[in-house]
Amino acid sequence: MVTGPSGVGKGTLIARLKERVDGLTTSTSVTTRAPRPGETEGDDYFFLTEEEFLEKVERGEFLEHASYSGHLYGTLRSEVEEKAGSSRGVILEIELQGARQIRTSMPEAVQVFIAPPDFAVLRERLEARGTDAPEEIEARLEVASGELAARDEFTHQVMNEDLDLAAEQLEAIVRGELQQSS
Ligand code: 5GP
Repeated sequence: MVTGPSGVGKGTLIARLKERVDGLTTSTSVTTRAPRPGETEGDDYFFLTEEEFLEKVERGEFLEHASYSGHLYGTLRSEVEEKAGSSRGVILEIELQGARQIRTSMPEAVQVFIAPPDFAVLRERLEARGTDAPEEIEARLEVASGELAARDEFTHQVMNEDLDLAAEQLEAIVRGELQQSS
C-alpha cells in the first residue's frame, strides 16, 4: 500500500511503478466524492452515494474505509481478492486512516509512505493540479500536517523531491519485497 498526503504524487509514482515492474495492478477504490473532469467510473473510482457506501460498510464489504475531507473512501475486499488472483501484487493508494487499518488487518502488506520535501511543495502541487476548489485545498492541507506526523509508522518512506529518484526508490522497495516473498 502507498500512503502519504494529498498532492504528494502518489498517483504519479504508482503509474511509474507499474511501468517499471511487470504484473502489478491497482485496486480501484470506492468513493462518495463527485468525479473530477476526466475521471471515469470503474477506472479511477467506483462512485457511489453515501447511502450505497454505508450499505457496503454494513455488509462488511470493505477491507478498509475512511472519511477524508468530507467524503468516504474505501477498498473493496472483492476488488483486492479478484486482482490478487491475476497479478504479482495489488497496489492500494490510500490515506492514513485506511493505511493503519490495513497495517493491522494485513501485516504482510508492504507499507510505503510518500513524503514531500516540505509543506510548501504540497500547497504548490495541489494548486497546480487545479482539480480542487480553494477551500478543498485548505482542508487537504490541514489533514496533511497530521498525516506527515505519522510517517515514521511506516516501514518504507520515499521522499518525493525529484520524481525520477523517488520512482527509482519505490521500484527498489517493491522489487526487494517481491524477491523476499517469492
Ligand atoms: P482524492 O479525492 O484526491 O482522489 O483522494 C483523497 C485521498 O483519499 C487520497 O489521499 C487518496 O489516496 C485517498 N484514497 C483513495 N482511495 C482510498 C481508499 O480506498 N481508502 C482510503 N482510506 N483512502 C483512499
